[in-house]
Amino acid sequence: MTTIHLTHLYAKEMSIYGDRGNLLALSYYLKKIGYSVVVNEINIGDILPKQTDFYFFGGGGDTDQSDVAKDLELKKVRLKKDVANGVPLLAICGGYQLLGESYVDGTGNELNGISLFPVKTVAPDNTVTSRCVGNLVVESLSSKIVGKLVGFENHGGQTVGTNDTFIPLAKTLVGFGNNSKKEFEGCMVHNAIGCYLHGPVLTKNESLVRFIMSTIQHNLQLKQEFISDPDVVTLHDSLIHRFYA
Ligand code: GLN
Repeated sequence: MTTIHLTHLYAKEMSIYGDRGNLLALSYYLKKIGYSVVVNEINIGDILPKQTDFYFFGGGGDTDQSDVAKDLELKKVRLKKDVANGVPLLAICGGYQLLGESYVDGTGNELNGISLFPVKTVAPDNTVTSRCVGNLVVESLSSKIVGKLVGFENHGGQTVGTNDTFIPLAKTLVGFGNNSKKEFEGCMVHNAIGCYLHGPVLTKNESLVRFIMSTIQHNLQLKQEFISDPDVVTLHDSLIHRFYA
């Protein structure tokens, strides 16, 4: 039986609003088509596993982000190399922010990111009167991911692209997305996605699961047929209907 290796980055420090459920969901789909799955949880001070077929990095508060930022610097070269080689990655909110160039928190303290995504994030100043909180519905702009995605966002940080290599994941339909302009959500680099879709997002957006699984299979030269879960599809459609249509 083929084993798929999933790495949960900073599982202890960064996994709020059910983010950990993304790994449960992905494991469920992978096992359904006959793979065995190993999830390695990596925390501060740990060494990255030899093999990773998918990285997940969840959200967290400013204090946790500050602790993690220093350690992330030590893992930067390997993470960027794996992403450049096509390994899929999903980072949510605080994780997304730290994979960008920098995050300036509410006290003005600047954390260095690892510049995997060409974005930078600044916590609200007097031009933004409230945090970006609520349901988020977006339309994918990527040919690799089909249709609308739904999740929940809760962030103060305002994220913007820093140069013309910035490719947003999606267009915002309901909610904010990257920032209070409500234009775009997330960022994509190779097969890495950074976004504000808490949820856990993989329990309600099968098109994202399909993208991640087809990328894993492509990278490992595997070819099992994807098996859809009708409950996930129904949940997705009903949430889109409730919040958008
Ligand atoms: N501290 C960050 C912000 O509020 C990240 C929060 C989160 O991960 N949900 O912008």
